[in-house]
Amino acid sequence: MNPVGKPGKTGALMPVEQALQQLLAMADAAPIREQQRLPLAECDGRVLAQDLVSTLDLPPWPNSAMDGYAICLADWTGEPLPVSQRIFAGQAPQPLAAGTCARIFTGAPVPEGADCVEMQENAVVHADERVSFTEPLRPDQNIRPQGQETTVGELVLAAGTRLGPIELGLAASLGRDRLDVIRRPRVAVLSTGDELIEPGLPLGPGQIYNSNRRVLCSWLKRMGCEVIDAGILPDDLEQTRSRLAGLSAVDLILSTGGVSVGEADFLGIALREEGELALWKLAIKPGKPLTFGHFRGVPVIGLPGNPASTLVTFALLARPYLLRRQGVADVEPLRFDVPVGFTWPKPGNRREYLRGRIEQGKAIIYRNQSSGVLRSAAWAEGFVEVLEGTTLDIGDRVNFIPLSEVLN
Ligand code: AMP
Ligand code: MG
Repeated sequence: MNPVGKPGKTGALMPVEQALQQLLAMADAAPIREQQRLPLAECDGRVLAQDLVSTLDLPPWPNSAMDGYAICLADWTGEPLPVSQRIFAGQAPQPLAAGTCARIFTGAPVPEGADCVEMQENAVVHADERVSFTEPLRPDQNIRPQGQETTVGELVLAAGTRLGPIELGLAASLGRDRLDVIRRPRVAVLSTGDELIEPGLPLGPGQIYNSNRRVLCSWLKRMGCEVIDAGILPDDLEQTRSRLAGLSAVDLILSTGGVSVGEADFLGIALREEGELALWKLAIKPGKPLTFGHFRGVPVIGLPGNPASTLVTFALLARPYLLRRQGVADVEPLRFDVPVGFTWPKPGNRREYLRGRIEQGKAIIYRNQSSGVLRSAAWAEGFVEVLEGTTLDIGDRVNFIPLSEVLN
């Protein structure tokens, strides 16, 4: 039974890039614009809604990079200098008195008139407490100039930047205690399949435990989304309609399963009746069937149900889509060029995302690459991207996408 579409017979597969571009175009057409002003502590993982422009020079004044002595080079003749002041971090110094040096500590403002800091390891303190130096002194050495990090008016983080510990630290260093961020995307997770039951219940005949729900709910949470767990949806048109109808307040309905070739595609029928639907056959493995559409105006992405397929298509397609809905420009994971430590004798017509690791500088892959084997990804450190129509010998180069690039 295959009431919707006739996938699998004719037609070229859609390249992964093309699917991504289409999804991103649709995300661009439906941006989440609502903003919230939140304390920094609540901004981790969120997307900046307003440019962060510096209202400070950072550092605000030249400061010492070392514990040592601040000197005016013109005063250094080789004769020991008396110490005229001690400057700790947090203190405001006096201008440097002519013919003297200042004891100074890391982070303390360099006094007016000083143009060099020498570290204490290269200083000799004489019995009369005057100080001389054992190494040549150079202008500006060990002085962090005012504004070396940023100056007033400079764009520090652009709107659309994903905020993590480093960005939040930067905002804090500029004195910001709050930032304007895009509100969390609300994403409903639907697991379709008559065979699914939740962990904790006894496994009946023909049943399997629902693992995709856990993968997606946890992942979306990490991404900063508000997750609406819409539970298990039986393979039934009436229930599909009513479940979708109950999810009218979300930004995205993310479902898994029920998009395979040869299966009654109730999601597709429901979308076709009350919205629109694109059924894609993608040149991706694991993966291939992917649904994008709207149900009563709410965007829906239907990922394939095999756990490794769900993982790969979420990482490469749904995740970038969700980031772009929040205004993130650069949504693609970094790829690293690495040599392979395995052979790939048979070229495929789909781009493969093999679950692999780097060992002794070479990519190796999990022994079982079945789309049903989630353990391959638990073992893996990333995806080894093998392009369509490619064979590989040991030492040939491929792209490697670390899981850490996408699991956030
Ligand atoms: P489907 O896309 O519905 O044809 O599912 C493809 C395969 O993935 C089947 O073997 C399903 O049993 C399995 N599957 C679908 N959804 C889940 C899920 N939520 N958790 C684990 N396996 C699933
Ligand atoms: Mg199914």
